Amino acid sequence: MKTAIRPQPGIMDIDLYQGGASHVDGLDNVIKLSSNENPLGPSEAAIKAFRDASYDLHRYPTSDHSRLRQAIAGVHGLDAGRIICGAGSDEIIAFLCQAYSGEGTEVLHTEHGFGMYRISALANGATPVEVKENERVTDVDALLAGCTDKTRLVFIANPNNPTGTMIGLSEIERLANGIPKQAILVLDGAYAEYVEGYDGGAALVDAHENIVMTRTFSKLYGLGGLRVGWGYGPAHIIDVLNRVRGPFNLSQAAVNAAEAAIKDVAYADHCRIENARWRNWMADALAEIGVPSDVSCANFILARFKSKSEAEACDEYLKTQGLIVRRVVGYKLPSCLRITVGDESACRRVVHAIRQFK
Ligand code: PMP
Repeated sequence: MKTAIRPQPGIMDIDLYQGGASHVDGLDNVIKLSSNENPLGPSEAAIKAFRDASYDLHRYPTSDHSRLRQAIAGVHGLDAGRIICGAGSDEIIAFLCQAYSGEGTEVLHTEHGFGMYRISALANGATPVEVKENERVTDVDALLAGCTDKTRLVFIANPNNPTGTMIGLSEIERLANGIPKQAILVLDGAYAEYVEGYDGGAALVDAHENIVMTRTFSKLYGLGGLRVGWGYGPAHIIDVLNRVRGPFNLSQAAVNAAEAAIKDVAYADHCRIENARWRNWMADALAEIGVPSDVSCANFILARFKSKSEAEACDEYLKTQGLIVRRVVGYKLPSCLRITVGDESACRRVVHAIRQFK
């Protein structure tokens, strides 16, 4: 047997994608509210584009994703030349760690930050450094204090997963201005589309040489199963990322569906409005029965129970009711359950079940 050069923990060791199950043995009519998917699914136009791609399955996909990049640039008012597409934003995160971290370097992330930052850092031999949050909110002072001359990447998600909380653009700018010269700030905007009027930090990317923004089609656009994400950054960084990207990293079906999805602005608006409506309803209804949550800007809420044992018991009870929610990544927030905002009937069902549990 050969020995790996860098045997490191991977997703099989870290409780990141667990809870992704979509069934409970012996139960029908199960609702999965554990992976922050869009319960309304993708736009009809995206489904049609995906199906139409089946006529050309013998062809390799385009390698530069130029039509998709143009479509993204058009909708967001960006420079298409500084966009890179990946198999989910996970792949953009991986490219960043591959290109900019390695042995002897450090990758900063917040204590309740998304688990792929740590996994990608470890996979490249870098040391992930976890920084405290302030009451489940990204703490810029703590991140700045955590930087050293070894720091190469600083990851924050805004809105953050699993907390749902956000920090303002002026705080992000303070962070970009304060990190060491050799470091890049990565602004993960997987949930940015849920925040009306928020550009995910695109204007800050344009104004700085050290910020990269990542985005995804997996959340608001309902295409998690197709794996499409993108990054936007200064030309010199996007150029480097394109050098670690494989030529055919996305299937044509995925590229075509994503292009159709981003052009269907009316459907995206509809999904954003429905999400906000049922998220706020669910948060208020749970607060009334003694389960508060932080103000969420995304498509999930982090419901806070009195103790770890109460959260665990509630999770088990919800399973018996055919409702799958998420105990939080690595159980770092053991008294919380993260609940994706479903459609109206799913939200009513989960609130009803938690009320019965209480
Ligand atoms: N960033 C955050 C904060 C996420 O929550 C997720 C998915 N859960 C991702 C990135 C990765 O999403 P994808 O690879 O599907 O684009």
